[in-house]
Amino acid sequence: MKTDSFKLRHIGPSTKDLGEMLNTIKADSLEQLIYETVPDDILLKKSLNLDFALSEQEYSAHIQKLSAKNKVFKTYIGLGYHEASLPAVIQRNILENPGWYTAYTPYQAEIAQGRLEALLNYQTMICDLTGMELANASLLDESTAAAEAMTMLFAVRSRDQKKNNVNKFFVSEEILPQTLSLLQTRAIPLDIQLVVGDHQQFDFSTEFYGAILQYPGKSGQVYDYADFVEKAHQAEIKVAVAADILSLVSLKSPGSFDADVVVGTTQRFGIPLGYGGPHAGFFATREAYKRTIPGRIIGVTQDLNGGRALRMALQTREQHIKRDKATSNICTAQVLLAVMAGMYSVYHGPEGLSYIASKVNASAVTLSGELEKLGFNQLNTAYFDTIRIQGDATKIKEIAEAHEVNFFYPDSNTVSISLNEATTIEDLNTILSIFAKVVGKEYTPIQKIDTSNTIEKDLRRNTDFLTNEVFNSYHSETELMRYIKKLERKDLSLNHSMIPLGSCTMKLNAASEMLPLSDPQWGNIHPFVPVHQAQGYQEVLKKLEEQLTEITGFAATSLQPNSGAQGEFAGLMVIRAYHESNGDHHRNICLIPSSAHGTNPASAVMAGMKVIVTKATEEGNIDIEDLREKALKHKDNLAALMVTYPSTHGVYESGIREITQIIHDNGGQVYMDGANMNAQVGLTNPGAIGADVCHLNLHKTFAIPHGGGGPGVGPICVAEQLVPFLPGNPVITTGGDQAITAISAAPWGSALACLISYGYITMLGVNGLKEATQYAILNANYIKERLDGHYNVLYVGEKGRAAHEMILDCRPFKANGIEVTDIAKRLMDYGFHAPTVSFPVAGTIMIEPTESESKAELDRFCDAMIAIRKEIAETTADNPNNVMKNAPHTLAMLTADSWDFPYSREQAAYPLSYVAENKFWPSVRRVDDAYGDRNLICTCAPIEEYMETEG
Ligand SMILES: *Cc1c(COP(=O)(O)O)cnc(C)c1O
Repeated sequence: MKTDSFKLRHIGPSTKDLGEMLNTIKADSLEQLIYETVPDDILLKKSLNLDFALSEQEYSAHIQKLSAKNKVFKTYIGLGYHEASLPAVIQRNILENPGWYTAYTPYQAEIAQGRLEALLNYQTMICDLTGMELANASLLDESTAAAEAMTMLFAVRSRDQKKNNVNKFFVSEEILPQTLSLLQTRAIPLDIQLVVGDHQQFDFSTEFYGAILQYPGKSGQVYDYADFVEKAHQAEIKVAVAADILSLVSLKSPGSFDADVVVGTTQRFGIPLGYGGPHAGFFATREAYKRTIPGRIIGVTQDLNGGRALRMALQTREQHIKRDKATSNICTAQVLLAVMAGMYSVYHGPEGLSYIASKVNASAVTLSGELEKLGFNQLNTAYFDTIRIQGDATKIKEIAEAHEVNFFYPDSNTVSISLNEATTIEDLNTILSIFAKVVGKEYTPIQKIDTSNTIEKDLRRNTDFLTNEVFNSYHSETELMRYIKKLERKDLSLNHSMIPLGSCTMKLNAASEMLPLSDPQWGNIHPFVPVHQAQGYQEVLKKLEEQLTEITGFAATSLQPNSGAQGEFAGLMVIRAYHESNGDHHRNICLIPSSAHGTNPASAVMAGMKVIVTKATEEGNIDIEDLREKALKHKDNLAALMVTYPSTHGVYESGIREITQIIHDNGGQVYMDGANMNAQVGLTNPGAIGADVCHLNLHKTFAIPHGGGGPGVGPICVAEQLVPFLPGNPVITTGGDQAITAISAAPWGSALACLISYGYITMLGVNGLKEATQYAILNANYIKERLDGHYNVLYVGEKGRAAHEMILDCRPFKANGIEVTDIAKRLMDYGFHAPTVSFPVAGTIMIEPTESESKAELDRFCDAMIAIRKEIAETTADNPNNVMKNAPHTLAMLTADSWDFPYSREQAAYPLSYVAENKFWPSVRRVDDAYGDRNLICTCAPIEEYMETEG
C-alpha cells in the first residue's frame, strides 16, 4: 500500500472496514453498489481527464514553487482593498485552528455559543463604527453589500405610497468601479434605473427612491454628506453610504449624519488581501428595517433556565422560508472572516484602533507634505488615507514598478496612493525616492510621523465607540488567547465529532489543503495588481477552472461567485444574457421543483424571472408529466429549469435525461444546483445529465471549510453556448467576450480560498476523486442499513439504495410528543451535531456522512440514533418532563444540588459508554427563539439592561 497517498488520509473507512461495510449492506463490491445506485444511462464510460494524485509532501513543494511566482510588491492601490496586519494570535488560534474553521453555520445554538458571541462582537463593532442601530453578521463583500442596500431600499419603498412606482437610484461617481458594476448587475433584472453623477450637482428629484455615496470617495476625498442626506430625506429619498471601516474610527459616522444604510468591507481589519478574498462585507441599517435586512443577524435571547443565550434571530426572513418572496438569496456568508475582524477589534480596542487610524492618516499627511516640497500637486483637500498626485502616470508607473511598488493610476496625469496599517516610514521614503527620481531631485528622508489627529474638526468623529467591556479587556496575548479558547470550547466542530449535515457535505478540511493560506506569498496580493505580478495565482486559478470544467463535463468555469447562491444568480444571469443574445428578451419563466433549496426561487426572482413550481411524486421524484405540461404551457417564455441532482430527496432520479430534454425541446436552459456534487464526481456529471450550467459549492464538495457559515466559493461551470457570457470585472479583464457585469467585487472572487479546492483535487487525483464519491455513497448506505428497523428512510432509488444522503421520517414520533427538534437537541447529549432538520421535508432529518468518516464514527452515530429511538419509544405525549424534551443537558444541571427529573443523571449525560470518554457539554440549555425575536437585541449590551427598559 502506498502509505504516503493523501487518499488514505481523506477517506475514512479502511480496507478492513470496507469488507465489513459491504457485508452489512449486502453488496459484493463498491462497483456493484454504484451500479445499484446510479442510473446506467448517466454513468460515465471513462475516467475523467485529470492528473494522478500528488502526495502531501509533493503538493507542499508544488504549491510553494507556485507561490514564488507571485511578486509581492508594496501596494497602495486602495479601491477597497488594503494591506493589513493580521495579529499572530488570531492567525494561530482562529485562522489555523480547526476548532473555528470547521464549524457549521450556528443553527444549533446550544453548541455554537462561542462563534455566536464572536459574531455579536462583530455586529457591535459595526454598529459602533457606522453609528447605526442594527448590523448583520456579514455579507460577501463590499460591492454585493452595496447592491443589497440598493435592492433592500427598493423593496421597502412601497411602504411609502408616493414612491410606489419610482425606480431611479442615484449613484455617486465617487463609487468604487467594482461596486458600480455590481449595482448594474443587480439593477437590470429588477428594472431599477441607475443614474451616475456628481452628488454635489444632484437635484433631489422625486423620481428617485434612493442614492448611494462612497465615504471617503474612490478618489480619497472626504466629503461632508450631512447636507445631501438632509435634502434627500426631504425628498423622501433613502441614502446608503459605502464606507471605509478604518476611516470611520477617525471620521464622523454615517449614522451621525442620518444615513439609512451603511455598507463596506472589514478586510482591512486584519484580513489578508488574498488576491480578492475571502473578506467579510458588512451591512448596517435602522432597526425599522429589521425584517428586510439581508443575511443573518445574531441576537440575544434566553435559555430554558432564563440565562442569557445567543442564536440567529428573525429567521423567518431567510430565503428558506420566504422562497420566491425573498428579496435576497444570502445563505453562506463570511462568518470566519467576520469572527477574525471582530477579534481584531477585541485585540486592539478603541485605543489601538485610534492609534492605527491616526497613524495611517498622519502618514498620508506627511507624505503629501513631502511630495509637495518636491514640487508635486496633491489634489485631495480633505482625506483619510489616500492622496492624489498630479504627474506623468506612465513615467511614475515605470519607476514605481522598478522599485516593486504599485500605485493606482486613474488617468494619464494622476497617481493615487492609499496608505495602510502596514506602511512604515521606510515605505514612505521609498515612495518619496520614486517621485524624487521622476523629477530628478534629491529628497530629505522622513524621520518621524506625527500621529496627532489631523482630520479637520467638522469631519472628525466626536463620539465614543467600542465602549463595551469585551473591547477593553483582552489586549495582552495571554488574555486574548484564553478568550478565544473559551469561545472555542463552547462550539462543536469537526475536530470533536462528525457533523452529518445533509446537503452541506461536512467533509475533512485537510491541514495540507489549509497550510498555504498562511503564506504571505498568497495572502498579500491585491486583486487589482497587474496580472503578470500574480503568475502563481493565475496558474492555480486557471488549472482549477480546467479541473472543475472537466469534472462537470462542461466547456468553461468562472470562479467569481462567493457562494452557492451567488452561483445560482450568476448562472441565471448568464442564461438571461444568452436568451437576449438570441433576441429572446421575453423568456422569463423559471420552473423549480417543490423540493428545491430556498435559494433557488430567491435567485430566480433576483434574476428577473417568474417562478413556477412543479410537483413531486409520492416517491419524491419530479413529477415528469406535471413538468412536461408546464414546460409546454410556457414554451414561448420558458427561460430555465433549476434542478438539484441527485435530488434534495437523496435520490438519483432515473428520469433526469428525459427532464432536461423536455426543457430543451421547449426552448429553455437547464440550471443544475450542484450542492450534491459529492454524489457525482467521477461517476457522472451535469454535462452527462444534459444540464447547461451548474454551480459548485467548493465549501461543500471540494473541501473548503464551512467556517461557521462561510467563506464559500460558488463557481459556475457552463456549456459551450454560455461561455461568452461568463461574468467580467471592470478593473481586470476576465470572463467571456460578451461578459455580463460583475457578480463579485474581485475578478476571481475568493481566490485565496480556491487554493484549498485546488489542493483537494490535486492530492486526490483522478482515481481518488472517484473513490471519494464511491465511499460517500457507501457510508450513507451503511447508515441506512444500520438504522433499518429503527427509522423509516423516506425516499430511495429504484434498487432500494440511498445516494450520498438520506432523509429519515420523524413525523410518526409526534404521537409520543416528540418533534424533530427534540432529536436534534438530544443528539448533543450524545456528542453529535444534528443532521439537517426539516429540509427539504418538514418533520424529517437528512443525514449525509461524507466519505471522510470512519466506520467507527459511523457506528457511534448509529448507536446514538438507535438509543434515541428507544428513548422516544419510552416517552408519552402527556408527560413532557422527559429526557428528550429536556435535552440538551448542561453541566450546570448535572452538578446542581437538586435533580428533579424522572431519569438518572447518567441517563441524561452519559447515555452510552463512548460518550463518557469524550464528553461535549452544551454551554446553555435549550434556547428560546421566540423570546429573542420579540425582544430583538443584536449588540453586546447585557440583556438585563433591555429587560428593565422594555417596560
Ligand atoms: C447549500 C445549498 C445552496 C446554497 O449554497 P450557499 O453556498 O449556502 O449559498 C443551494 N442549494 C442547495 C441544495 C444547497 O445545499
